[in-house]
Amino acid sequence: MKIPTPAIILALTAAVVSLFGLYTLERAQNYQASKQADQQAGQQASSDSLSALPHAQHFEWKLVTSWPKHFPGLGAAPERFARQVERMSGGRLVVRVYGAGELVPALGVFDAVSSGSVEMGHSGAYFWKGKIPAAQFFTSIPFGMNAQEMNGWLHYGGGLALWREIYQPFNLIPFAGGNTGVQMGGWFNRQINSIEDLQGLKMRIPGLGGEVLNRAGGTAVAIPGGELFTALKTGVIDATEWVGPYNDLAFGFYQAAKYLYYPGWHEPGSVLEFTVNQQAWDRLPADLQAIVEVATREVNQDMLDEYTARNNAALVELVEQHGVDVRAFPREVTDKLRVITRQVIAEQVQNDAQFARVYQSFNAFQQQVEQYHRVSEVANYQTRQ
Ligand code: CA
Repeated sequence: MKIPTPAIILALTAAVVSLFGLYTLERAQNYQASKQADQQAGQQASSDSLSALPHAQHFEWKLVTSWPKHFPGLGAAPERFARQVERMSGGRLVVRVYGAGELVPALGVFDAVSSGSVEMGHSGAYFWKGKIPAAQFFTSIPFGMNAQEMNGWLHYGGGLALWREIYQPFNLIPFAGGNTGVQMGGWFNRQINSIEDLQGLKMRIPGLGGEVLNRAGGTAVAIPGGELFTALKTGVIDATEWVGPYNDLAFGFYQAAKYLYYPGWHEPGSVLEFTVNQQAWDRLPADLQAIVEVATREVNQDMLDEYTARNNAALVELVEQHGVDVRAFPREVTDKLRVITRQVIAEQVQNDAQFARVYQSFNAFQQQVEQYHRVSEVANYQTRQ
């Protein structure tokens, strides 16, 4: 290899230096250009934030409910939702909660939110079975899933997606909005010792449970919670179910009926619902939509936590202070009600394609979750006894 002469080394060095110079000049120019672009973008963003960014927008929503104002449990949930949303949004979304009858009747919630006369509602999907028979699955069905299983189906088993699809033509977005856990069987002014004792029984009982009672020879009636005490006391109805000890104590049903039966075969894990009007939702910026979504999920769990904590103390009070006679339905009665439930569901599956579709999803989830719960929840309960 030939060794380069000093002249060649000098020429090569000069070439390298000048190339490097060109390169650094170009880099410097690029840097300046991008810095200028960043500054312009920053100025644009800061002028946007003064006018159009979400922080400048303020929303006031009305939320109507099917519950008496400030009613424990069910009525506390929308109040909690409003507080959480206001806190998380720094007051940019204020939700005013109205009790049943203040703006619309207890059972007018669905229509009010659907029409857009209010932005939001808190109620129960099974109240709308006259419009949408399949909606009953999104609250609870007789011998269906418990609270834990319903939450699993809705949030990880496709249930919520189906619910949203079914409410979409009504301009409504549903969210799970609380769960009562397993309810009680109800308040009766007569003993239920056999299925024949349900003959001629006039009872407030919503959803598919009501259809089952009708088939067993009784008469199911729909009466809003706030009117139940008087209806039971005056003999307009012979029996009523509502929720469970904590809520039923607040309504004073022990003053109108002697027997409290268990379990709530008709509502083993009732989900409450929040509904949001589609256009009201579309007007919210993405961060407030996220706040609404997170708040509903928090309230959904919180209601179950509260009932879990308070039901037994209320049951003890009903028995020890008010002399309520707490009884189990005979196994023969619940076995027959389960057979009737299967018949009622099979008929509706035949007649209603949407009902059939939701039932298929619900039932498939229940089958698989029960398989695991037999070796977890049930087996664990048995080890405690
Ligand atoms: Ca109930």
